[in-house]
Amino acid sequence: MSDHIKLFIPGPVEVRRPILEAQAQWMIGHRGKPFETLFARIQPKLRQVFFTQSRVFISTSSGTGLWEAAARNCVSDDPAGGVLAAVCGAFSERWADVFERNGKATTWLRVPEGQAIKPEMVREALLARAAEPNKRPFEAIAIVHNETSCGVMNPLAEIVSVVKALSPQTLILVDAVSSLGGVKIDFDVLGLDVLLTSSQKCFGLPPGLAFAAVSDRALAKAATVKNRGYYFDFVELEKFLQKNHTPATPAISLMFALDRQLDDMLAEGLEGRFARHARMAQRVREWARRQFALFAEPGYESDTVTCVANTRNIDVGALNAFLAARGMHISDGYGALKGKTFRIAHMADTTEEEIQTLLDAIDAFLAQAG
Ligand SMILES: *Cc1c(COP(=O)(O)O)cnc(C)c1O
Repeated sequence: MSDHIKLFIPGPVEVRRPILEAQAQWMIGHRGKPFETLFARIQPKLRQVFFTQSRVFISTSSGTGLWEAAARNCVSDDPAGGVLAAVCGAFSERWADVFERNGKATTWLRVPEGQAIKPEMVREALLARAAEPNKRPFEAIAIVHNETSCGVMNPLAEIVSVVKALSPQTLILVDAVSSLGGVKIDFDVLGLDVLLTSSQKCFGLPPGLAFAAVSDRALAKAATVKNRGYYFDFVELEKFLQKNHTPATPAISLMFALDRQLDDMLAEGLEGRFARHARMAQRVREWARRQFALFAEPGYESDTVTCVANTRNIDVGALNAFLAARGMHISDGYGALKGKTFRIAHMADTTEEEIQTLLDAIDAFLAQAG
């Protein structure tokens, strides 16, 4: 029996003991040499995980902060330009809302929850824009790679190809909060402009940090955009990054943990890590198809979180109470999907054995529930 409740929810995830302990180091000043050394040591490792030669900003915020950063830095206030926001669930909807609340002209490309954004839909939206008088090409497109609310993984590479072909000047902003570090996303090969994630999902860290790879092109655009604010200003972040600093005091303890976790991720091997995620996903999907059904559109199921359609109408609260007695916890459906679905995260440092133990426990619950 575990000494704590192991989280199988899509963030925050279970954090391994050595990572928790890595945080418990004496403080260092963020303007001194030891911090610069730490920051410089982290950078090349982060770039490997993002598959980029470009910069990766470290933000002391959750991923939501970098949503705001992308909105404020990459899209101007020009109503003739704006952003195309691809929406397929609760998180992508919220990011679209972030653009709107920052006063950016936002065009929604929306599919019903559970379905994926298809490249043809993006093509249509880009062609429609090109035909509109008094409009410019979209300044940016915002895509959530892995829609955590419904377990859908969007075909990013295919979507990116369409944008590059039809609207090459449009910046490509990608939220990979619940997939980066568990699924390969090659920033440089795809030619992305902003790729952002949070610490508490596939990175297997506590919450509190967020990371964003940012292209030269996005940085150049930011320099032309007014009202970027201060805390998330890419131009400012870049100026400090050049000196291995951050503009404000960062979450230093979390950076100790990040430094250690990046070593462990690279020691596992990124390809090995991605393969483990794929195997865990396959195991959960096979189980879910046998016992329930999958909520995601076939062919677009996430490799990091499975959204199970609650076809047996089980009481998810009762299931979680049963699991809690066994030291485990899963996630109910998100928002309107509460009760209709439940979600099992298989991300970060979770092992196949742990996943099997969880599935066996759910089977035991189903057997006693009859
Ligand atoms: C969790 C999540 C977010 C929000 O990230 P925070 O770190 O909680 O701010 C955004 N997008 C997706 C896809 C997520 O799963």
